[in-house]
Amino acid sequence: MNYLIVGSGVAALSGAAAIRKIDKAGPITLLTAETDPFYYKPRLPEILCNGVSAEQITVYKEKWYRANAIEVTYGDPVTSFDPKKKSVLTASQKTYPFDKLLLACGASASRLTIPGNSLKNVFTLRTLQDARAIAAAAMAGGQITIIGGGILALEAGYNLSKIGCKITVVEILSRLLPRQLDVPGAALLQRYLEEKGFTFFIGTQTARINGSGAVKSVSLKSGETIESATVLISAGIIPNVTLAQKAQLLVQRRICVNAAMQTSAPDVFAAGDCVEINGKTEELWQPALKQGAVAGANMAGGNQTYLSAEVHAASTTVADMQLVSAGNIDADNKSTVFVHETKTSYRKLVFTNGKAAGLILLGDIANSAELLACINKGVPGAVLSGDVIDPAYGEWNVLNA
Ligand SMILES: Cc1cc2nc3c(=O)[nH]c(=O)nc-3n(C[C@H](O)[C@H](O)[C@H](O)COP(=O)(O)OP(=O)(O)OC[C@H]3O[C@@H](n4cnc5c(N)ncnc54)[C@H](O)[C@@H]3O)c2cc1C
Repeated sequence: MNYLIVGSGVAALSGAAAIRKIDKAGPITLLTAETDPFYYKPRLPEILCNGVSAEQITVYKEKWYRANAIEVTYGDPVTSFDPKKKSVLTASQKTYPFDKLLLACGASASRLTIPGNSLKNVFTLRTLQDARAIAAAAMAGGQITIIGGGILALEAGYNLSKIGCKITVVEILSRLLPRQLDVPGAALLQRYLEEKGFTFFIGTQTARINGSGAVKSVSLKSGETIESATVLISAGIIPNVTLAQKAQLLVQRRICVNAAMQTSAPDVFAAGDCVEINGKTEELWQPALKQGAVAGANMAGGNQTYLSAEVHAASTTVADMQLVSAGNIDADNKSTVFVHETKTSYRKLVFTNGKAAGLILLGDIANSAELLACINKGVPGAVLSGDVIDPAYGEWNVLNA
């Protein structure tokens, strides 16, 4: 059996590893647009301040590829494939035959549709190449405007501030990290970052990026203009579905796959940020890894299914502040909510219908594993004794019982 994989991210590599576990001999070839070997994307912001080197975030050394007989062709993107003739064409006009194909082509960072988004020194952060380019521009210091107030944006901003850049964040919604934090949590994080020198424009939209050749400033719809030597657009991702669309696979917003990670073409599988299962997508490292493993196993003759987690947890660090956010964060405080707040931490536990349903732990993530387990199981008994949370799970006040 001859296996081809499009991409060299986590879904691609976990797919290749899973194939090799079952099929010890079939040729496995990865065709990728990347020029760097597979690396750990969540640590890309640290590249910006030289906090880590490319080598430190590279997942597998050359000998791993050799030991597993996995070939990778870098820097030659796939331009089309034919699911009936079972062949793939790359930008350099090479054709590759396949018996089983895995589309693990991920997503690209959105550049939004604002005027000036292609000026020099306007960046997005998705790849190691992007990180190197931003780091080179940021060496000159100066003002950096970040469009977007999500985790990636704030982590990038924090790392850039470490090398002396002055950071301004523009967020269109009414608070930072709207998917992970409620109003008090976001306010605490904003205060913390302001103390570190960040400036925020919240609830306003970028009108245009100004400059001739290189960026000079950013104009907001609310009227302000921010001087900027560099702009980082961190405003979500666009799934890479063009290849699948050209091959007439079933594609909605993303490539549609079943629980076996199989597309509408029987010998073509897909996994990671480019797919949706029953209209749902996860866009996180662990799900991409698990989906790739299921796809790879099934390509090699296995019979596995991918089960998405009931409750999605974001577990990360924003500017050295630990954050765990999961399930229903109840931004409007409509459910029963337990909170505990200090100057440097905010903890919130949400119950719906008497069951633990979500949490925000910011700045103090003690008991996060136990609390997440309670939420995943949906069992109140382990957490609650009467109306009071067992002290083993931390200190709480009832906000809205
Ligand atoms: C800066 C950053 C921080 C992140 N932090 C976190 C985090 O803290 N926690 C978390 O869970 N997730 C995080 N993520 C998200 C996580 O990294 C992604 O969900 C994950 O990488 C998706 O993996 P993937 O393999 O589906 O796609 P990708 O990693 O996007 O890989 C896609 C691959 O396909 C290749 N490709 C695309 N088109 C073609 C083509 N036509 N031909 C050949 N190759 C092609 C690309 O070059 C790439 O190798 C972060 C992402 C970024 C960018």
